[in-house]
Amino acid sequence: MKTFPVYVGRCREYNPEAIAAVVRSGLRAIGFSKSVSGKIVIKPNLVMAHPKVATESYTRPEVVEAVVQVMRERGKGIEKIDIVEKSGLGVSTASMFRWAGYRSLRRRYGVRLVAMEEARQSTVVLRRGRIHHHVAVAGEMAERDFLVFVPKLKTNVLSHAYSGALKLNIGTVDSKERLFHHNMDLPLKIADLLEAANPDLIVTDGIRMAFGGNQMTQGGTDIGVIVVSTNAVAHDMACARMLNLDPMRIDHIREAAERGYGPSSFKQVRILGDVPVKSVQALTRKLDFGYYPVGRFKSPFRIVSGSPYCTGGCHGIFLDWLHMVKDRKPGLIKRFPALTVLIGRVEEDIRSGRILLIGDCAKASPGISGKKTVRIAGCPPTHKRIVLAMMLRYGLLAPLVRPSLIIDGFVLYPLKKLKGLLVNLGR
Ligand code: SF4
Repeated sequence: MKTFPVYVGRCREYNPEAIAAVVRSGLRAIGFSKSVSGKIVIKPNLVMAHPKVATESYTRPEVVEAVVQVMRERGKGIEKIDIVEKSGLGVSTASMFRWAGYRSLRRRYGVRLVAMEEARQSTVVLRRGRIHHHVAVAGEMAERDFLVFVPKLKTNVLSHAYSGALKLNIGTVDSKERLFHHNMDLPLKIADLLEAANPDLIVTDGIRMAFGGNQMTQGGTDIGVIVVSTNAVAHDMACARMLNLDPMRIDHIREAAERGYGPSSFKQVRILGDVPVKSVQALTRKLDFGYYPVGRFKSPFRIVSGSPYCTGGCHGIFLDWLHMVKDRKPGLIKRFPALTVLIGRVEEDIRSGRILLIGDCAKASPGISGKKTVRIAGCPPTHKRIVLAMMLRYGLLAPLVRPSLIIDGFVLYPLKKLKGLLVNLGR
């Protein structure tokens, strides 16, 4: 039986030299023999970084620095190293590079920081795609010779509680394609994107794990591991196990496994290293990942779930918004107005004073009768649209409503997008 090695190494501090030593041990243990040359792309998780409200959910620069050091040691004929990312929530990736502390890497190692929305893009045809038949990725991603994923060990309510190497691929595409079928089809999308960006090496930042709550504003805890592997499916199966999750019940892992991108079951994963999985499980067992049906979130809202139930779409995104408030402004939840919130198409008759409809399916619910009905359109609506609507319609200020992020999201980001449009004009 073919097996896939995954190395779990002990590292308790964000010290680039110490992390690099663990990565080297990992490469030795897994028998890493791929050639590292030409154009190297490093893809971290920078969905959002902000010194006040998003402090734990992104890949720390010290881990990326260690990867750069190891790549430079192992590489022969490296032409360049690019760190490529597209952040989420309609904020500019350049600001996330800055807030996360990545700029000094450019100065000290000569690497380039590539923000996809303002960079040259290339179309990649996906011959096996079920949702996407072609996608635009950063030119650097399309032309790379070697790809390193550097995910954060974290939970995410939009992807069955787990976010790792496979899910990182959502950040290889721009907003429009990112949102396309970001609903119950999210696992298929994630597996499709492997054809455009399947990493040659994965190094996960599990020194601190981000868990529970919203994927951007969640808190963190010390776990003290670095995970090294050359197969994204095996890597995610091992990490899911460390979080006490069944990897085959995480749809995007199962989908990628079924498409032959890695082991077909956890039995084929060979875990190596100096950290027993059981010791990590003991730490993560007591954590609340916040992953449950959106209707169970305790608040003054009455939440009615219709169909379909979209973990990666309306239901997950609204649960993520609720968690965002709970993470950073828990007192606000008590002050929520009495609203009936419909998510998905609801067949029962709903009579209520104030009704909120999340997404296009909810809008199609036949028996709604309310004095005041607010609709947030989209399939699914973006985080940004939900944050904005909840603020303007109900005066509920989410923790991300801060001057720095408002300027970034509504002034800087559109300018960066315009720059990207001009760069790609006529290509
Ligand atoms: S509108 Fe929402 S509930 Fe309906 S398919 Fe799209 S994401 Fe799912």
